[in-house]
Amino acid sequence: MIRTPEYRFVFLLLIAIALGACEPGIDGQLVRSPDEFNEAASTLRPGDRVVLANGTWRDVELIFKAHGTAEAPIVLTAEDPGKVVISGQSRLAFSGEHILVSGLVFRDGYTPTSEVIAFRTSSDELASHSRVTNTVIDDFSNPERFSSDTWVALYGKNNRFDHNTLIGKGNSGVTMAVRLNSEASLENGHVIEYNYFGPRQTLGSNGGETLRIGTSHYSREFSNTIVRHNYFDRTSGELEIISSKSCGNTISGNVFFESQGTLTMRHGHYTLVENNYFLGNRKPNTGGIRVINENQTVRNNYLYGLAGHRFRGALVVMNGVPNGPINRYDPVTDSVIDNNIVVESDHIQLCAGADAERSAPPIRTSMSGNIIMSTSNPDPFTIYDDISGITFEDNIVNDELTVPIDRGFSPAPYSVTENAYGLLAPEASLVEAIGFEEIKLPVTKEDTGASYYPKPDGKVAFRSGHRIDVAPGVDSLLAALDASAPGDTLVLENGGEYLLTKYAYARHPVSIIAEDGDRALVRSEKSTFFIIENGGSLELENLRIDGAESPDIAGNNVISTSRYSMNRNYSLAVRNCRVMDLDVNHSFDFLKVFQSTFADSIEIVDTEMTNITGSVLALDKETDDLGIYNVENLVIRGSTFSDIQGAVASVYRGGTDESTFGPIVSIMGNEFSNVGNGSRNRTGASLKFHGVQRLEIADSNWTSSAPLELFLTNGEPITRIADVVMRDTGPIRANKSDYELENVIFD
Ligand code: CA
Repeated sequence: MIRTPEYRFVFLLLIAIALGACEPGIDGQLVRSPDEFNEAASTLRPGDRVVLANGTWRDVELIFKAHGTAEAPIVLTAEDPGKVVISGQSRLAFSGEHILVSGLVFRDGYTPTSEVIAFRTSSDELASHSRVTNTVIDDFSNPERFSSDTWVALYGKNNRFDHNTLIGKGNSGVTMAVRLNSEASLENGHVIEYNYFGPRQTLGSNGGETLRIGTSHYSREFSNTIVRHNYFDRTSGELEIISSKSCGNTISGNVFFESQGTLTMRHGHYTLVENNYFLGNRKPNTGGIRVINENQTVRNNYLYGLAGHRFRGALVVMNGVPNGPINRYDPVTDSVIDNNIVVESDHIQLCAGADAERSAPPIRTSMSGNIIMSTSNPDPFTIYDDISGITFEDNIVNDELTVPIDRGFSPAPYSVTENAYGLLAPEASLVEAIGFEEIKLPVTKEDTGASYYPKPDGKVAFRSGHRIDVAPGVDSLLAALDASAPGDTLVLENGGEYLLTKYAYARHPVSIIAEDGDRALVRSEKSTFFIIENGGSLELENLRIDGAESPDIAGNNVISTSRYSMNRNYSLAVRNCRVMDLDVNHSFDFLKVFQSTFADSIEIVDTEMTNITGSVLALDKETDDLGIYNVENLVIRGSTFSDIQGAVASVYRGGTDESTFGPIVSIMGNEFSNVGNGSRNRTGASLKFHGVQRLEIADSNWTSSAPLELFLTNGEPITRIADVVMRDTGPIRANKSDYELENVIFD
């Protein structure tokens, strides 16, 4: 048959209709289902555009291989940017070259594999010259907290990841990784720019890095990755915000806003860190730059308000391991830490981490032209080993600072003022003298991330919502809880009696209080009064709680976490409460936590607890010695505990990992009387702290109680005990003696 031109046109038109390419207003081929996507993905040619239809795509694995050209890339995009939501068990993987992905949102789910967006489809099919832009991954977190995955994994070469939004990773695993695990991914020249790395909660373990480039195994290879103009907003997963573990990277012009942790040059050499801005705003654990390895350059960075100590200082130069294995710390040599501005930051650490293994101090290294001005800590330098291998020249410090280095520092009047950009800047002549261009953020939050996607303010605070008055009675509190919204405050009647006949769930931050005056009484007929579910937090104030209606079974508790893994941190605050007679059976605890749960903070303040057959706070369920623990900040203040058979607090953090800040514990102004003497108290202590990184105990009295027990582990834990009286309680039990005791009386 001879095909006429008309025939051919009709034929092509029919095909086009069959493929949906004639959608009005769509530039490309609109696909509406995974099958349509797979069909489209099987025949991709340069210049093709596959357009995902608006809506929710649930449980989809978008996998394709394609070969575009520089002039005619192959595009995968959304019908409207931000209106294609990929949820459930889903992921995206692609390989080939000149592929452009844009406009997708990953939310309400998690990857069934170990990566959400992978620049490869198998170990030897990688992507190159490809780009992901204007795409979002928002809390696409595995519900199992310690089931690890990576949200974005870059493989191959010459890829670009830009203007994307990555927020709220709750489970373990780096948010984004540049992988160097084969020859084809080395010297990659990837560019990571203008991304918004949004808030990441404290993981309470290693594995909470926001960006990792390489791994120790390939650390002596060149990655040559460029990380510039990104905004790291409260990326506080762990000690390392960025972990550079390869050679030849450039990290420049990024902003680190109130992020707990540091930019760490963990492995690899020849990396450049310049013109980055660290805005700690005096938030705890905020850090700057940690230098390890050879031929590193750290210059023209601005560091403000960094309150972190030890490895989280503003500038930290580590000691190394001489001829050490590839996964340890190479000594710092031939490196430059010049012309940086450090304002109102507490710690600069030289030869940090010096110990029997890390015995090699920095050599042939310069620390010159830095301006250091602070009123917050007059003594910011800590020197752990020999600094004769560091050249110090032309550094300027304000008159008030003590510098324990006899060369290269000139005092100057403190001259920090807010400049036209709202940043605190030393006097202009000093700044000019070190060749630092104007002090101004290299990128703003608004310049980064997917254009259509909001940037969250953060967690909902207690009492930020509405007030709901709750009448006394049976289950009135349950009904009010069920009807509440995040941040609401349920106000109980003074002296009112409230009975729970079902579990009361805190599924979001919620406060249950009575106003000043008689406490409201709360009882429960269930084995647990309140269960904090994933995403929940609970505040109790001015309540009376007793066990009079609790079932006669062992192991009751007032508050418990979810018994399942929680990938969202919670908070618990108990203030001005009276908790008594949790004694209907044995092992009646105040708080019961489960494994794979983590509290940002737990506080018990101005509270009285008496006659309890279990423990008050057993925060010791992570027993695998992997450096994992159950609470970051624990405060017990102004409270009295009497006739408690278990421990008032048991906090456990085992292992030798150095990636976390906590647990941080403060015990102030309390009375402990007949605490910890029960035969079922397996800690054998009134309070037991194992592996706590910062412990302060002050103004407290023990009477006829089990001893205080300390187990000090690595990380130079700070332990201070002052103004304490222990009567008929026995001496402090401790594995080591390197803790501070001041005015502690035993009688
Ligand atoms: Ca780490």
